[in-house]
Amino acid sequence: MTADFRHFYQKSWAERVAIVAEQTQLSAAEQALFKKYYLPQHHDIIENYLTDYPLPMGLAVNFVIDGQAHIVPMVTEEPSVIAAASNGAKIVKRAGGFRTTLKRREMIGQIVLEQLPDPQQTAALIESHAVRLLEVADAAHPSLKKRGGGARKLRTRILGAGYLSVDLFVDVQAAMGANMLNSMLEAVAKSIGVLTKTAPLMSILSNYATASLVKAECDIPVGLLQAGRYSGQLVAQKIAAASQVAQLDPYRATTHNKGIMNGIDAVAVATGNDWRALESGAHAYAVQAGQYRGMSCWTTDGQTLYGSLELPLPVGIVGGSIKINELAQLNQRLLGITSARDLERIMVATGLAQNLAAVRALVTTGIQQGHMHLQLKSLALAAGATPEEVPRLLQQLEQAPHQDLATTQRLIATLRR
Ligand code: NDP
Repeated sequence: MTADFRHFYQKSWAERVAIVAEQTQLSAAEQALFKKYYLPQHHDIIENYLTDYPLPMGLAVNFVIDGQAHIVPMVTEEPSVIAAASNGAKIVKRAGGFRTTLKRREMIGQIVLEQLPDPQQTAALIESHAVRLLEVADAAHPSLKKRGGGARKLRTRILGAGYLSVDLFVDVQAAMGANMLNSMLEAVAKSIGVLTKTAPLMSILSNYATASLVKAECDIPVGLLQAGRYSGQLVAQKIAAASQVAQLDPYRATTHNKGIMNGIDAVAVATGNDWRALESGAHAYAVQAGQYRGMSCWTTDGQTLYGSLELPLPVGIVGGSIKINELAQLNQRLLGITSARDLERIMVATGLAQNLAAVRALVTTGIQQGHMHLQLKSLALAAGATPEEVPRLLQQLEQAPHQDLATTQRLIATLRR
């Protein structure tokens, strides 16, 4: 370590690049990469900004949700995600599309009190002042109330070991609401401190967004599921069995749910939303019954395959970095949405479409067949093939005994002779 990283955050962009280049001995070509993806407007979004990091964005098609057709922009580096989402959505489109349900959209924040000799008494005291505390919350972010949102409810939960959580429910309107809620919580925490004569341990939004649940459902006539030599009825039975395994076994449930989040995260990134918040909330919800389970459920009566997926999806169409991200704005237009509720509906349907395509492939032809074609494209490009060489190379790779980097490089060399 030779370079000096002290006060790195105060340096200009050019100074930062020079320090990193010195530290890691970057060539001029490597330093040029920072410049290539640099966006001046991103300088103030994160600390120590160097450059942007490009990820591919594409469109999933065939979505019909609550009677409306949608195209779905997705940002992902995983080759098969968009193809699978479009494929799942196509099957459901033929069956009439997805139905979604969204009852309420409130974010929950918590103020935690500690070392309470009598948590029950403190809880009763706080609840008796609930109306006043909700007013304090609203006063901390008055514009929210003007927009029709604001603090809705206060709840107390005794956690044990002298801890008490005071939960604040807030209608955050079109935003995800983390920052707005955190400001409101800090104001309420001060009032609670005065009221209870204790200093709260912390106040922060909870990502376990159980007051922001959204559900997608679909009913698919089994005839639409036929795959190769597998009858639609057999495919439906196998999908239902795979769903049951994900309810029984956390090893399978984790991968089942990863597939669902493949779709949801890709839309979250494309719309400038906080995918870590969605991930943590979704996985916590998957363990609500005491064991980690598959988030979706598929059953069949032999005629129809019934699918459903319910998740907390507290997303926003304003706030965070959304307003400064031109593509996030554009993607709202592509999605055809004007509210956070619409976005939630599309995201949960995308998760269910993704899951249907993955599980259907898994129980019939296997996941690799579809995956490998797309993976081979990535392999060809990684091995140095030009876009013009890719189609011929893919044909040869598909026949090759080993589909690895060395083989691909050999095939490219032969192709160029
Ligand atoms: P902001 O802090 O950006 O607040 C929302 C902004 O949107 C406000 O400035 C608000 O204006 C404006 N706005 C405009 N129109 C509306 C409308 N119709 N409804 C609601 N707000 C509107 O964003 P959030 O509070 O949503 O916070 C999201 C960010 O917080 C994300 O980037 C997330 O990563 C981050 N975060 C996440 C945490 C977590 O998940 N645990 C913790 C902390 C931060 P006005 O001010 O006039 O009301």
